[in-house]
Amino acid sequence: MALLQISEPGQSPLPHQFKRAIGIDLGTTNSLVAAVANNGTAESGVANVINDAEGRAILPSVVNYNASGVQYIGYDAQAVAADDPYNTLASFKRLMGRGLNDVSETSQFQIAIPSDATEKNDVIRLATAAGEITATQASAEILKSLTARAADALGGDIEGAVITVPAYFDDAQRQATKDAATLAGLNVLRLINEPTAAAVAYGLDKADDRYIVVYDLGGGTFDVSILQLSEGVFEVLSTGGDSALGGDDFDLAIAQWVLSQAQVTAEQLSAQEYRLLLMDVRSAKQSLTDKYSVGLSLQSSVVSWVGELSRDVFNELINALVATTIAACKASLDDADLTAGEIADVVLVGGSTRVPLVREQVTTLFQQAPKTDVDPDQVVALGAAIQADSLIGNSRDSDLLLLDVIPLSLGIETMGGLVEKIIHRNTSIPSSRAQEFTTYKDGQTALAVHVVQGERDLVSDCRSLARFELRGIPPMVAGAARIEVVFNVDADGILDVSAKET
Ligand code: ADP
Ligand code: MG
Repeated sequence: MALLQISEPGQSPLPHQFKRAIGIDLGTTNSLVAAVANNGTAESGVANVINDAEGRAILPSVVNYNASGVQYIGYDAQAVAADDPYNTLASFKRLMGRGLNDVSETSQFQIAIPSDATEKNDVIRLATAAGEITATQASAEILKSLTARAADALGGDIEGAVITVPAYFDDAQRQATKDAATLAGLNVLRLINEPTAAAVAYGLDKADDRYIVVYDLGGGTFDVSILQLSEGVFEVLSTGGDSALGGDDFDLAIAQWVLSQAQVTAEQLSAQEYRLLLMDVRSAKQSLTDKYSVGLSLQSSVVSWVGELSRDVFNELINALVATTIAACKASLDDADLTAGEIADVVLVGGSTRVPLVREQVTTLFQQAPKTDVDPDQVVALGAAIQADSLIGNSRDSDLLLLDVIPLSLGIETMGGLVEKIIHRNTSIPSSRAQEFTTYKDGQTALAVHVVQGERDLVSDCRSLARFELRGIPPMVAGAARIEVVFNVDADGILDVSAKET
């Protein structure tokens, strides 16, 4: 006799009915994948990161190419980066959805470009042995690798993913991330903001209305976001930071100190000796998180030096860098019209927030101990996994839909190079708005539509997203045609624009 599986209305379905959904933190330096366990054990309902075969949670966001395509990924690609720099792509998240103009203007291009970068259709392309590769394609490789890891661990195909993006990512950067997922064959349940994911990992979406600061100090970037939680909706009040400040700079500060102690210059070391030094200082830095002093040495053909670095000296070396992050936090508080005392929770994200001086300075500024229970490397991926589980319908409160807002206003160019905003910043997504426009010349049969994103009044101060032309307007006197332009922003924050003569 067949046994029927029955569940009461409102109760969890049986384990085999759960769908496999994952959360992915697609990071600049490191990426991770996590999922909520649904195996009917005590672990059920808890989000966990998924390790690789060697037991490592982190996948360095590095891809190495050869003539036949991807050769190495993650740690393996990192290992060959120094010997094969032209074919090894890293930090490509900084190039997502960007053209050469964007990156030079915003100086986000301060990464070692592994080759001559070219551009096609406003997209940067990097030359490798496998041909020209875009940031979207390299990201797709990271997503594929993490998805395959998750499929192995969860025992079957992945049915959906939540991928996180920085809160300040504009439409083009979000679209590029979604394109990467499509290339990787992933079904994107939703793109969510990294700080929002971190807040969800701490269960703050279920908390009372409040202001939350998310302080994210990673390997190469610092981001601070101030969120307002109201009735379960996270609104990004302000974002700030420094796209060229992170743990790598702490490493460099120690390396400089070692060189000066040993009385040599970087130029006197071979490339390999310098690389070894950077690896040594990085592990010394990490040891200083738990210890008060660490031994360091520098052995080269010109010098042999052995010494000790104390945490106090390390703190002095990085003091100015940490102060920069604190100043950025203050600026973001000002932007949000808040004082430090009004912040209910401070969430720490990123490996570099383990540094004791960072925690001390953050505690001093916000007059409270930051939240650190969840591993700062994993917190974003865990929050994404919780959202994925909910969005795919596994969790009991799957009717809870986490809402974000659009970070920057969307509009179109009107006469005189001015912007007419159609959807204002901080509107909850998804959102749709129509606006009517008309012709300004007699007999005008076409209308150029230029879609822009930004807060400024002049088109030239905003980011151009797309241009298209509406043709076939019946000839009429100026002002008689009624052209409806519809802006539709989906739950991922991605815009779709259409226009028709009505
Ligand atoms: P990203 O968000 O940029 O991808 P991560 O959040 O993974 O980067 O942070 C990586 C940085 O964290 C590196 O600079 C690494 O040295 C630093 N880090 C990791 N663990 C520690 C530790 N125990 N103490 C100090 N720094 C650490
Ligand atoms: Mg990160």
